[in-house]
Amino acid sequence: MKNSCPDQRFLVVEARERSGGTWDLFRYPGVRSDSDMYTFGFPFEPWDGTDSVAHGETIRSYINHTIKKHDLDRFIRYQHRLLDASWDSRQKLWTVTIENNDRKEEWTCRFLWLCTGYYDYQRGHQPDIPGLHTFRGPVIHPQHWPETLDYTDKEVVVIGSGATAVTLVPALAEKAKLVTMLQRSPTYVSEVPSQDPWAVRLKKYLPFPIAAWLLRWKGVFYQTLVFKLARRFPQFLRRLLTKPWEQLFGKKFAEKHFNPRYNPWEQRLCVDSDGELAQALKQGRARIVTDQIKTCHESGIETQSAQNIPADIIITATGLKLQLFGAAQITVDGEPIKASEHMVYKGTMLDGVPNCAISLGYTNMSWTLKCDLISRYLCRLLNFMEENSFMVCRPQLGDSEIQPEELIDFNSGYFQRSAHILPKQGNKSPWKLHQSYLHDILQTNFARLDDGTLKFSR
Ligand SMILES: Cc1cc2nc3c(=O)[nH]c(=O)nc-3n(C[C@H](O)[C@H](O)[C@H](O)COP(=O)(O)OP(=O)(O)OC[C@H]3O[C@@H](n4cnc5c(N)ncnc54)[C@H](O)[C@@H]3O)c2cc1C
Repeated sequence: MKNSCPDQRFLVVEARERSGGTWDLFRYPGVRSDSDMYTFGFPFEPWDGTDSVAHGETIRSYINHTIKKHDLDRFIRYQHRLLDASWDSRQKLWTVTIENNDRKEEWTCRFLWLCTGYYDYQRGHQPDIPGLHTFRGPVIHPQHWPETLDYTDKEVVVIGSGATAVTLVPALAEKAKLVTMLQRSPTYVSEVPSQDPWAVRLKKYLPFPIAAWLLRWKGVFYQTLVFKLARRFPQFLRRLLTKPWEQLFGKKFAEKHFNPRYNPWEQRLCVDSDGELAQALKQGRARIVTDQIKTCHESGIETQSAQNIPADIIITATGLKLQLFGAAQITVDGEPIKASEHMVYKGTMLDGVPNCAISLGYTNMSWTLKCDLISRYLCRLLNFMEENSFMVCRPQLGDSEIQPEELIDFNSGYFQRSAHILPKQGNKSPWKLHQSYLHDILQTNFARLDDGTLKFSR
């Protein structure tokens, strides 16, 4: 906005007292990206770190450095939470209620852009685990990691098999007596080096902007290729992902703990940075149990196959609770907007909702690649409206042949649980999410803005 829309006045409201979002909230040991930072970073401030998989603290510093270098703090109001937003068609304005230190204020704006992420910051997903209340030790959800938790020489059970569990287990195993990863079913886990050898070479021989550009595109092509391979040749990719575990631990072990029932990329792929999980398992500092929980008791967990897992601490790495609009209530002329009753236009606006956009990233590549494209598109859109004196834009679902489909074509627990709160996508452009960076570049950067679906008025 600052560079592309110099004539627009804009303000960012941030509920927390600091920037960083996800990377400020999540503080569990080892927290890191699983995307490569060359695609995850900002294109206007390319990632110059040596790690391609970076720790939470490093990402936080990078975000703060970017804010400072580009003088963005003056646009941000911290500790300002959006509570609700209501559109008035007569005034052609949004009225937003902002909470600032228990004080509520009403402001107006022409355009509302919701970059509130996709999950509830207050609480993570906590499934009903039988007998958990009888456990005597601490029960921790990774979203709210207590700084003071001492797990030195303790027996720790991590319940879950997603990216958080895969990250946490080797990190905890550095100090704990034994870490057990207790998973109901396996996930695909792929070892990746935390340093990209290409990054070291390219940065050595080429000017930094060129090296950064090449690394970003290398990342895009690699992520696209893996996703396409997974969708076209799932058995081939399954073999590729399970083979290293077979070589390390034998066929039976790999089959039981690392060969999921679903095909690759029907859920997000987990990354084992530098094979840290494999090493912790190999050295006996960690182990995996694939089983259902029968009940927790005061000193551990009993599984359905009558295995007793002793525990001093239980970590429920059971995922996020999806949430849209940062829990704010959105209304249009007094009518509450239920996202699930709307379809997404170009992955960012909702049919029938005027002057409003959401930034939701990719699920099959770096989230931020898509957020960047959305930002470019919205800047183009705002400039177009300014040039043509349009006050309102609103995507209109006129074609009755457009069929609604689930927004995310994943079978992960948290998407399945939350399908009812997510908007739908359509089966055709511009309502379809192609989950393809190359396709989306054309659609957002070059396609006509007045395409007949997005209606403008003065
Ligand atoms: C542990 C973890 C690791 C991840 N790793 C990766 C990865 O490697 N690669 C990847 O692509 N994705 C990853 N993700 C997904 C990740 O959330 C996104 O990539 C990215 O950080 C999201 O950025 P965002 O700005 O869209 O949302 P967030 O980081 O969630 O930021 C949303 C911001 O909006 C603020 N906010 C929310 N509601 C309100 C409100 N009502 N009023 C005011 N402010 C509000 C929040 O305080 C927050 O600062 C990870 C997620 C988690 C939880």
